Amino acid sequence: MPTATVAPTTYLNFIDGEWRASRTGRTFENINPADTRDVVGLLQDSDASDVDAAVQAAQKAFPAWASMPAPARGKILLKAAAILEGRLADMADLLSREEGKTIGEAKGEVNRAVRILEYFGGEGARLSGQTIPSERPRVFMYTIRQPLGVVALIAPWNFPIAIPTWKMAPALVSGNAVVFKPASQAPLTSLELVKILEQAGIPKGVLNLVTGSGSSVGTPLVAHPLVRAISFTGSDGVGRGIAAVGAERLARVQLEMGGKNPTIVLADADMDVAVDCVLNAAFFSTGQRCTATSRAIVEKGAVQPFVERLVARAEKLKIGDPRDPSTELGPAIDEKQLKTTLRYLDIGKQEGATLVHGGERLSEGAHANGWFSRPAIMTGVSSQSKLGQDEVFGPLLGIIEAKDFNDAVGLANDVRFGLSASICTTNVSRALEYVERAEAGMVMVNLPSAGVEYHIPFGGIKDSSSGWREQGPLATQFFTDSKTVYIKY
Ligand code: NAP
Ligand code: MG
Repeated sequence: MPTATVAPTTYLNFIDGEWRASRTGRTFENINPADTRDVVGLLQDSDASDVDAAVQAAQKAFPAWASMPAPARGKILLKAAAILEGRLADMADLLSREEGKTIGEAKGEVNRAVRILEYFGGEGARLSGQTIPSERPRVFMYTIRQPLGVVALIAPWNFPIAIPTWKMAPALVSGNAVVFKPASQAPLTSLELVKILEQAGIPKGVLNLVTGSGSSVGTPLVAHPLVRAISFTGSDGVGRGIAAVGAERLARVQLEMGGKNPTIVLADADMDVAVDCVLNAAFFSTGQRCTATSRAIVEKGAVQPFVERLVARAEKLKIGDPRDPSTELGPAIDEKQLKTTLRYLDIGKQEGATLVHGGERLSEGAHANGWFSRPAIMTGVSSQSKLGQDEVFGPLLGIIEAKDFNDAVGLANDVRFGLSASICTTNVSRALEYVERAEAGMVMVNLPSAGVEYHIPFGGIKDSSSGWREQGPLATQFFTDSKTVYIKY
């Protein structure tokens, strides 16, 4: 908890291998959402001139980095993985303090970043093309993959180390030079990650970090003519704007955006499994996961037993200081997000849904200085209502009743998003049929819709994504061009 007498540390941008103050001379505060008296640090409030310096440095560093053998680039990532693993406890504490997820979740996220660095470290030795037989005699044909140049990485606050790592690691091992803008609400874990990569030996100019807002840093970064590709994770509206700017100069754009993820609970489901899956996916990380379940689509007949057990479990959740290991649910990231969640409760009521648990703001005692609320469950939500369609990004679950399996699949697909989807059932035919029919980039059976592994593709379809995949063996595709070679001998 805060020690009001200690002045917060000021952190710098990382440009051309140096830690530098912004040319603006301004900083902004990084606040602890569980205790807003606690200023975690001051960061550079940068502008377009800092962005330009970072992009120019990356452009200058690119050729030497691109011509370094890929396994040697990978080795730097492996070294960074080892350093990060050694700092797991302090990095998890920092993450929990600046973002508000529980210390257990924060440890899980830092550990995942370690595994991602290891995976892409190894990928340096596997960046292979293809050989294809020619139809002509004595002609050898093959493909190689080459880096793009300067790439911009823009990350959200809700996974401030896992998402930057899963963008940076494939970008770097593929031989690109990076300019990275972390989210202003949780920038410090990201900054520490850059420090670790510096310590691991990333050459000067290859990796640059510029902090500041979306409008003053994100906008000029996306628009910079030397930026060949942009990988963005965040909200739907910002992503569409980036796609439009990228299209103008034919820059490659990767977007991972919002979700309105369903969990179908069929009457034949193991109810304990279903309750576990939905409780975890809807409320853990305070509902602030892009893969969170915000709609439970429950087959008629199962609604009452399912809701009763879910409410009983939700009532027991311990909400409070996320750095206390016994806490199960932390705060919202900020006042705006808390108010959005509370506003959707009112919208739901106006639309005829019934609040059966939670929803109230907690502002007494241990909750007095943070953005806390009790997780909310609403029944009788209709699919085409605002609550049934909009991404809330908070601990608010809507229960939608389905007539049968077929109806449930239709309801699950009845949104513009398509990130993740889950079904709880003991019927293998229905599980496999849902895998086929689910309009989502990731489908889970008897598992929470959130909670993904580090070494298999991640991403959505429909309005959730541009379709490029992150993580696993497909991740380097976005960061490379394929070159086709013909040789007559
Ligand atoms: P956001 O407001 O869109 O911000 C994401 C990042 O974009 C931040 O770094 C932000 O900077 C920056 N940004 C804002 N405006 C910009 C602009 N005009 N040009 C360039 N960059 C700009 O999203 P968020 O609130 O941080 O994150 C929550 C959203 O992310 C939710 O919709 C969630 O579903 C989505 N998300 C998706 C995934 C996925 O993989 N599909 C994963 C996690 C989160 P500042 O914040 O510093 O101003
Ligand atoms: Mg913060």
